[in-house]
Order: sequence, then C-alpha cells, then structure tokens
Amino acid sequence: MTATGELSDAQFDELLQSFVGMEIGPPKPGPDEVNAPMIRHLVETLGDTNPVYVSQAAGAASVHGRLVAPPTMLQAWVMTGIEGPGRGGDSPYEQMNELLFSRGFTSVVATNCEQTYVRYLHPGDRITMRTVIDSISPQKTTALGTGHFVTTRQDYYDADGELVGSMLFRIIRFRPAARPVAPATRPPRPGPALTHDNAFWFEALNAGKLLIQRCAECGRLRNPPGPMCPACTSTRWDTVEAAGTGRIHSFVVVHYPQVPSFEYPLPVALVELTGPGEEGIRMVMNTAGVDPGDVRIDQEVTIEVRPVDESTRLPFAVIGGHS
Ligand SMILES: [Zn+2]
Repeated sequence: MTATGELSDAQFDELLQSFVGMEIGPPKPGPDEVNAPMIRHLVETLGDTNPVYVSQAAGAASVHGRLVAPPTMLQAWVMTGIEGPGRGGDSPYEQMNELLFSRGFTSVVATNCEQTYVRYLHPGDRITMRTVIDSISPQKTTALGTGHFVTTRQDYYDADGELVGSMLFRIIRFRPAARPVAPATRPPRPGPALTHDNAFWFEALNAGKLLIQRCAECGRLRNPPGPMCPACTSTRWDTVEAAGTGRIHSFVVVHYPQVPSFEYPLPVALVELTGPGEEGIRMVMNTAGVDPGDVRIDQEVTIEVRPVDESTRLPFAVIGGHS
C-alpha cells in the first residue's frame, strides 16, 4: 500500500470498496468453551436474576431443557486481551485502515452494533468467529467530521460449523472537524511555573528582554536557568541579553489533545541561538510567521518577545523575517 496520497478521489473510492467482502484474518477460536463461571460473573455484574443462566435445575425445567448463556454474551466467547491474537499485522482490515489514514481519516467512533442470534449457547459449546468487511459507505459528513462508515460482520460458528449468531459492528473513521476557539473566548494560557531559579527569566520577558543566564565565575552561558554552573559548579551568575537570532533545531506541531488556551495546530520549536557567543544555547518557544505545516529544521528565525495575554510575554521564533 504505497503512494496512496497520489490517488484520485475515484481511485481512492474504488480501492476502498475493494476491501468489501474480504475476510480479515483467519477464523478466531474462542479461548474457552462456553462455561458456567463466565456466565455467572456476567449476570451478577449486570444484575440479571433469570435463574435459567445460573441454575441447572431452572435450566432443565425451562424450554431450553438445560442451562444456557445470555445471548448477548455472543462476542464474549471469542474475546481476547488487547495484546491477543488477531491484533495488528497486515490483514485486509489493517490495509483498509492505512488507506483511510492516508486521507486523514484517523479518528474513530463506534456508531452501532446489531446482533442476530440463531440459537442459545450452552456450557460446552466451542465458538469460532469469522469476520468480514461487510460494507464501506461513500464519504459522509457528520457532526463529528467527514469520513467513511465501515461495517464488519462477525459470524459465530459452533464446533460443527453451524452458524449460531452474527454481529454487525459499524464504526466511522473520520477526519476530525476543526473546532477553532474564537480568540475572544479563549482562556488565558497557563502561567509559567515560576521558581526561585527561573523567575528572573520570565520577569525579563515581561520587560521585553530575552536573557541568557551566565556563570559569573567562568562565563559559561546556560539555558534553561538553573542554580549552578554545570562547568565550574559556581552558584554565582548574572545575565546577558540574547541577540535574538536563532535556527530551528527541532520542532513538533501539536494537534491533540487540544487545550482551549492555545490555537491549533500549535508549533513548538527547540531554537538554537545563533548570536555571537551563544552557540549551543537552546530555548523552547512557539513559532510565528509561517503556517505550522511550513516549519522546517534549520530555518533561520528572529526571536521576538510578544504578549500572549495581559500578564505574560513569551519569546516567539518568527520565521521568514515577518509575521
Ligand atoms: Zn561556571
């Protein structure tokens, strides 16, 4: 599955639909046979007091003639742990997901589940499940965002290969809708975590100055601020004002989780200062001047101290020489 980004919409749809009807992986046998202890645990949890599920006598006296499992336990008999068999790998289902991811349909919500029961299960039944991709919808836009509904059908068989039940499970894989927060209603950023050691740095920013801490003994610069020189262990220090130029050393663009105080996508850069004598000093800051998607390693930046709210100013790495 390569170069899917180059597919036209029609090619994408055709490729997506080609997964319909495919079985996703080998049949999956239940790890345990249908058994009374698991049935009892479930009905106790649910508060279901029907004796036909827990009493041999009541089961024998019922229309079933024996103890039975609640039909809604169908899926429970083949469930494995999160690391269990059938996860990951390169099954058609994973390939379908990769195709959807390539179009940005990265979020998922389960939308509905329908079960059909052919017969009651009872202790001793051994259940095997087969799963096929039942249908994939055309692209739809919902309140969540735009994407495709994907329905899988799981068929459950007993040891004789007879169908005992089925389940249709539908999810939507979607591209989350942007939920911009209007600047007027955006709560202020969380304030910096001020300490005895770093307060001077933020106070200087609020006065419009970007400072670098300097050892008063050996002259070595350091950032982030700290109480002791890592070179000579002196605790005496003063500061110099940074020249205000730098280079993007590394960066991330944060999309999720979204905190209402910030605007997303939120670029966060590690900027290496390039002023005279500032080699090796790096600072974390947001970027400005270009779209977050256009931030690149090694871009030259001008560092500007800007207000982010009424009480805080922070450095910004301005890319492209203008904002
Ligand atoms: Zn020193």
